[in-house]
Amino acid sequence: MGMARTGSEGIAHLTAKEASARMDALRQEIERNTYLYYALDAPEISDAAYDSLMRDLRALEEAYPELAAPDSPTKRVGGTVEKQFSAIEHASRMYSLDNAMDEAELMEWMEGMEKLYGHLPELCCELKIDGSSIAITYQDGQLVQAATRGDGTTGEDVTANVLRVRDVPRTLHAAALGSVADPDAPLELRGEIYMPRSSFEALNLEAQAEGKKQFANPRNAAAGSLRQKDPSITASRDLATFIYSVSSNAALHVRGQWELLEWLRSAGFHVNPDVALCSTKEEVIQFCAASLEKRESLPYEIDGVVVKVNEFALQDAAGFTSRAPKWAIAFKFPPEEKTTILHDITVQVGRTGALTPVAELEPVRIAGSVVARATLHNEDEVHRKDVRVGDTVIVRKAGDVIPEVLGPVVTLRPDDALPWVAPTTCPSCGSPVIREEGEAQIRCVSIDCPAQALERLLHWVSRGAMDIDGMGEEIVSRLVEMGRLSDVADFYSLTVEELERLQMGRFNKEGDPITLGHTTAVKLVEAIQGSKERDFARVICGLGIRHIGKSTAEDLVEAYPSMEAMRQASEEELQAVYGIGERVAASIWAFLRTPDNVDVIERLERAGVAMAAVRPEGEGVPRTLEGLTFVLTGTLTGLRLSREEAADALKAYGAKVSSSVSKKTSYVVAGENPGSKYDKAVELGVPVLDEDQLRAVMDTGVPPVI
Ligand code: NAD
Repeated sequence: MGMARTGSEGIAHLTAKEASARMDALRQEIERNTYLYYALDAPEISDAAYDSLMRDLRALEEAYPELAAPDSPTKRVGGTVEKQFSAIEHASRMYSLDNAMDEAELMEWMEGMEKLYGHLPELCCELKIDGSSIAITYQDGQLVQAATRGDGTTGEDVTANVLRVRDVPRTLHAAALGSVADPDAPLELRGEIYMPRSSFEALNLEAQAEGKKQFANPRNAAAGSLRQKDPSITASRDLATFIYSVSSNAALHVRGQWELLEWLRSAGFHVNPDVALCSTKEEVIQFCAASLEKRESLPYEIDGVVVKVNEFALQDAAGFTSRAPKWAIAFKFPPEEKTTILHDITVQVGRTGALTPVAELEPVRIAGSVVARATLHNEDEVHRKDVRVGDTVIVRKAGDVIPEVLGPVVTLRPDDALPWVAPTTCPSCGSPVIREEGEAQIRCVSIDCPAQALERLLHWVSRGAMDIDGMGEEIVSRLVEMGRLSDVADFYSLTVEELERLQMGRFNKEGDPITLGHTTAVKLVEAIQGSKERDFARVICGLGIRHIGKSTAEDLVEAYPSMEAMRQASEEELQAVYGIGERVAASIWAFLRTPDNVDVIERLERAGVAMAAVRPEGEGVPRTLEGLTFVLTGTLTGLRLSREEAADALKAYGAKVSSSVSKKTSYVVAGENPGSKYDKAVELGVPVLDEDQLRAVMDTGVPPVI
């Protein structure tokens, strides 16, 4: 199976110390990308590259089991629960799936199942929908809750958003309820929420026209659209679902997966029609081949086939690993490859001055989207692959949008194609470039390089950093050209008056210059001002210090929660912080002492940008509500608070805030239009508080007396 691949070449000669350092580095890089992918829905590397980092780490853990971290990403379900959502504990864990990367691995898995049960069990084959997992709970046939997978144990409360997804039934068909084992218990059903290809393309076109960030692929677009603070945004995106499982096999009077799918259909869910119940290995292989053939013609993306042991009793006998069921496997389709012409190799200057060669390709459609550019990473990579302008090259996309140039088809090379020569000067500012020893990247070290300045500004406003909505590349570039933006502190002095008059370098039909306009300018200034409240870790990340990404910034802020404290730390002290090595410490230390940077930081501080982490929840507050569980329902009109704000206040006193009512709930707080949770509280005899009583608890921290 994919999981078992070791790829142990290159490991044998490592000392234990080197192996440990490499494992640390791999873990850190995997965690960083996991965060970008699941929390921000904005991956930086391809799935293939991510999977290969995972495989490297797994191989090292197998070779050095004593060095393996107990919480290694190889043992977990990737995913996070972000602060903006309330957390929901799943009724039972939500798992990922193990992979079979090719037919041989799929065969191996089926043989394993045959051995386990003494015969080949019936196998239910389904398409693997490339979307985002969702768990939807019904109580008395009514939709009461929806959650993302999160880390598998706890997900994010996206109930309000899922209620706006058209094909999700609010009420289960009454005829189906007869099969529910315990009609009084909540029933949690699971499936995939996805975005059809055409809607994904339309959404990205719209984002492009508005100068906003585009989603990398339909899967990220679905996850990003679902995980919105404002449900009306979710409603405006064209999301759809396929439901395929139930949180507990015992919850329904059905024998297995095949019958479950039938029941789901009868209850009113969308169930994918491409399914097969197979009794031989050949039938399974045949279904996989047929699905691969069909892939391009489907209106949504699939990245493989999920093969499940059909019978629930047999599934229960096989059980789970820490991250996946043993009774199922995902057969992954091979990554898609196409050939195209390499028209040019251009050079891009990054925010830290790194010069990256980029392949400019004849546009080609691969796995659902058009590829016209691909990074070639660095000079050595161009020479190792020996790609030359004019070559026909093979381009691959591994089920996502970050394409890779695999190499040239040498037999098709034109006679006059010459090896690529790296530039000796910066294409943006003309300064001579350098390549430091041990570095793969050529670098422009000029502090006045406009390309670097632009990238630094874009990094500051990006989603992973200060997340200034609407501040896209086009507007930032215009402001740079006008001389109005040269460093990140300049954002905070922008006014509505000057932004609304900003000419975008385009003209309308009458020949008048197009300006940004009042509404957009107001929104932008609001977004800029709003960013002052961002976490201090985002500020540190946004400053674009070399080697400091989001997770390193978080580690750093954990140890030094204010700019003042960080500035006073010595290089040695910084090195002692978890996750920070020699190079990283040197980079931070030098950054905080460079006069230009000091100036920017001081101006940011004067503008009101947070330069310290906010006090963690509950610190210094007596934990008087410890052991009590609150459920909030309805609108807190009188208090003018969102439920999240009220929940935070209760949590600060040590209370737990849950989203579903059970016998264990201590109090239900009912605002206006409370709904089914209120009814449930009354039914179970859980005390109900009104807004005044809630206010008293929030103000005093004293548990209410009922
Ligand atoms: P996965 O997507 O490979 O497989 C598990 C998921 O498949 C389940 O959770 C379920 O939601 C889904 N699924 C779809 N159809 C299904 C069906 N019919 N039955 C059952 N399940 C079905 O695993 P994952 O853990 O969600 O994510 C790992 C993937 O994400 C990898 O491919 C990895 O490369 C990618 N990833 C990429 C990056 C990056 O930086 N590019 C970072 C993190 C993860």
